This record gives sequence, C-alpha cells and structure tokens, in this order.
Amino acid sequence: TTEHTPRTAVVTGAGSRRGIGRATAHALAAAGYHVAILDLDKEAAEDTAREVAARHGVEALGLAADVTDADAVDAAIGEVEAALPPIGALVNNAGITSPTRFVDVTPAEWDRVFEVNVRGSFLVTHRVASGMAERGFGRIVFLSSVSAERGGGVFGGVAYSAAKAALLGFARSLARELGPSGVTVNSVAPGLIDTDITQGKLSEERKAAMVAEIPARRIGDVEDVADVIAFLTRPESGYLTGATYDVNGGSHI
Ligand code: NAD
Repeated sequence: TTEHTPRTAVVTGAGSRRGIGRATAHALAAAGYHVAILDLDKEAAEDTAREVAARHGVEALGLAADVTDADAVDAAIGEVEAALPPIGALVNNAGITSPTRFVDVTPAEWDRVFEVNVRGSFLVTHRVASGMAERGFGRIVFLSSVSAERGGGVFGGVAYSAAKAALLGFARSLARELGPSGVTVNSVAPGLIDTDITQGKLSEERKAAMVAEIPARRIGDVEDVADVIAFLTRPESGYLTGATYDVNGGSHI
C-alpha cells in the first residue's frame, strides 16, 4: 500500500538470495515502490521479482543486465520504463570485492572492480537521472563500504576501497548538481554484513575475533542496511542529500 504517487525503484544486483539488494527490494516494495531488479543472473533477478510481487502486492520485474555494459543498461531501463510506473528511486547495489593483497592485484582485477562498482553505478545513474530531474523527483543511493573509510580488511582490498571511496565523491558531486531538481543522492556505507560475500569464507574463530571489535557485538543483517536505504528513498526524505550513512555497528568510530 502506498500513500505517494506510484513509482518504481530500480535495484541493481538484487538477485543474490541472501544479499543486501534483495532485502532492499523487499523494503522498498513494503514502502510502496514497484520494483525493477537488474542482475547478471537472469533467473535470480526473476526470482527476486516474483518473491517481491507475491509478498508485497506490487509490480516487480526482474531483468538480466551487466551494469558495466552501456547498451544492456539502456535496454533494461527502457524495458522498465515501458512496463512500470516512472522511476523514482535507484539503488546502485551491484558490486564485487577484491580480497587481494596489493602486491598481487593485477591491472585486470583493478579494472574490473572499478568497472562494476564505479562504471556500473555511473551507467545506470546516467540512464535514469535525467528522467528523474524532468519529473522533479528522485532518490539515488550508492552502496559504498566501511572499507572506503577505514581501509579494506579481509573482504576489501585496495581496489575495492578505492572504488567504494570513488562513489562517495560521485554521490556528493551529483547531489549538488541534481539537488535543485528534487533529486537526492546519498551513499550508504555498510560494515560487515551477513551475506554470501561473508558467509562460509570465515572461520568461527576469525568471525568471533571480528565481532569482538564491533561495538554492537554482532555482524550486521541485510535488513539493517535495507532499512536505511528505504528511509533515504522515502518522499519525505528530500532534505537528506549528499551524505554518507554508516551502517556498521560502530566499527568505524
Ligand atoms: P552479493 O555478492 O550478495 O550480491 C551482489 C549482486 O550483484 C549479485 O547478485 C551479483 O550477481 C550482482 N552483480 C555483480 N556484478 C554485476 C554486474 N556487472 N552487473 C549486474 N549485477 C552484478 O553482495 P552483497 O553482500 O549483498 O553486497 C551488495 C553491495 O553492498 C555491494 O556493492 C557490496 O560491495 C556492498 N557492501 C557489502 C558488504 C557486506 O559485508 N556484504 C559490506 C559493505 C558493502
């Protein structure tokens, strides 16, 4: 149910079963957005869309698109525009890490991390921003990371930290440019969140040691992040722009 104009939220990388993107798609649908999911994995994107539509009674569309491919992004957003209400929110969630020590990072790995995290966010944002500005409403969210603020750690690595830090500058600059058009642009910087990225890749001992360093004394849930994104995409959140929202249990105080 929605009290605001019917609008669509685009969430990239929301196919992943236990990921932040899927939880975000649910949170935005619960807040009244129709939802479009773009993911590399077509079946996963369609699966999220079915789940969101069934649970929240909104329209939902799952599409295959590599966010680094300009033509694929253009085609996918074209499909969204043809099938669903106007795009009111974009969550640039698709991302990859590079848990590689600096001395072992290859130029190809560096480039791919920047392609998915930065170029991907650029291409999708570029494709939807002018429509938002013309309609005088938009909510754009970038998924940065605590790695951008305090350095990589086990899942980060230098390329990932650099790419996630690039998004912070991107978001602030775009917030200035689009502010007068009613479009807000913010970054969310999660700490360690319980997803496929973190699951099964840590020994129990390592996990316990990491949790001991987090003031909240737990790993974050995808819902912790999705809640903040949903808050930022509310129509009422128009005075929140150009900021970075930490969701890290206090791990970067
Ligand atoms: P995840 O790996 O579970 O999901 C990422 C999704 O992105 C996958 O569905 C994947 O198919 C999709 N994807 C990857 N490359 C793509 C591309 N080129 N085009 C389209 N889709 C693509 O990840 P997650 O843990 O849910 O993380 C989501 C976002 O949050 C990422 O940007 C990540 O860097 C960021 N983040 C995660 C954590 C964490 O602890 N999990 C912490 C900080 C930031």
